[in-house]
Amino acid sequence: MTAAPHTQGTVLVVNSGSSSIKYQLVDPVGGDAIASGLVERIGEEIGTVKHVVGDATTVREVPVADHGEGLRIVLGLFDEVGPDLTAAHVIAVGHRVVQGGPVFDGPVLVDAEVERQIDELSPLAPLHNPANLTGIRVARALLPDVPHVAVFDTAFFHHLPAAAANYAIDREVAAQHRVRRYGAHGTSHQFVSQEVAAFLGRDVAETSTIVLHLGNGASASAVKGGHAMDTSMGLTPLEGLVMGTRTGDIDPAVTFHLMRNAGMSVDEVDDLLNRRSGLKGMTGQNDLREVHRLVEEGDEAARIALDVYTHRIKKYVGAYAAVMGGVDVIAFTAGVGENDDIVRALSLAGLERLGIEIDAERNAGRKKVPTIVSTDRSATTVVVFPTNEELAIARQSVEVVGA
Ligand code: AMP
Repeated sequence: MTAAPHTQGTVLVVNSGSSSIKYQLVDPVGGDAIASGLVERIGEEIGTVKHVVGDATTVREVPVADHGEGLRIVLGLFDEVGPDLTAAHVIAVGHRVVQGGPVFDGPVLVDAEVERQIDELSPLAPLHNPANLTGIRVARALLPDVPHVAVFDTAFFHHLPAAAANYAIDREVAAQHRVRRYGAHGTSHQFVSQEVAAFLGRDVAETSTIVLHLGNGASASAVKGGHAMDTSMGLTPLEGLVMGTRTGDIDPAVTFHLMRNAGMSVDEVDDLLNRRSGLKGMTGQNDLREVHRLVEEGDEAARIALDVYTHRIKKYVGAYAAVMGGVDVIAFTAGVGENDDIVRALSLAGLERLGIEIDAERNAGRKKVPTIVSTDRSATTVVVFPTNEELAIARQSVEVVGA
């Protein structure tokens, strides 16, 4: 199968994890995903490669020794089942990079120096940046004739106002160890805040928006006039909202308490707060569908977890309305934000005096397309707006290569 030639060109978007590679071939103009796929369990005895074109999914269960081999298999599948990458006219490969630190405030063309800088920022994102860099290196080796662009998850928050970016700690320690709030999910927050304004026919420059990106990871942002004023993730993606497996905001003294009194090591506390907490820690389940099921069965711990989860969102909505001096638009996005009407309703319940009122009927159900879910008299328009990080990365890559 071959795709129709794309005169404007396409972008191959690559998101490399420590043992996975997610990819999508994107038409940056029309916005369509022409093909997508996932390589999983890299380095294990048997890996899986799933390649999706339209309704057809090709699956390979084979050992995938490393990222290089994973990507070679993917390129082989493009050859074998299509779409043909030459006909697709790939004008850039866009790589998601989690941590741009104090260095990167926008997408950049990758060269040896950029690779060195991404590597140098690894202490700030030890799980992510090394994997992102590995993906970049193997992709550059396998596709040497196409420009590669790094798109940073932190870039949208690079210019946060000092009041939001700084922690109140010793400033020399902060400077020496680059401790500040970098945020994350920036590509999604930027995309959704811009696109939701366009959807509502509003001028971004005149709009104050709260974006609630609620997926397995979750974050909130305050975006005023197109600029990020605050965001809930901090030095790392641990801060802020309650997540699938992460605590979100917590008194840092919990760490000292557990180390001193429970004999936990740094790594054990790290594992506890990042992987064994949040919804998973409180209910045993990190997926909200399962949490709702438990609530329906009368599980008290699950009911409390849902309350903690939505209470935290509500606190951020109030805080960000204050930070921006009012809020015109609240946008729910990502897996939970787009699909979970109960979470949306509970998070914004009782905010009528702040001018925020959900319409139960409009809010009901999952939303695959942008949908207004507030009442007509709500001063703040509440919208469910599906995010599309791959398209955002593709568009930013096109900007960089100037196509
Ligand atoms: P994401 O990280 O954006 O892919 O979101 C994944 C999360 O979305 C899952 O862990 C679920 O908690 C949530 N989710 C996905 N589908 C639904 C649904 N139909 N109802 C409620 N939550 C959902």
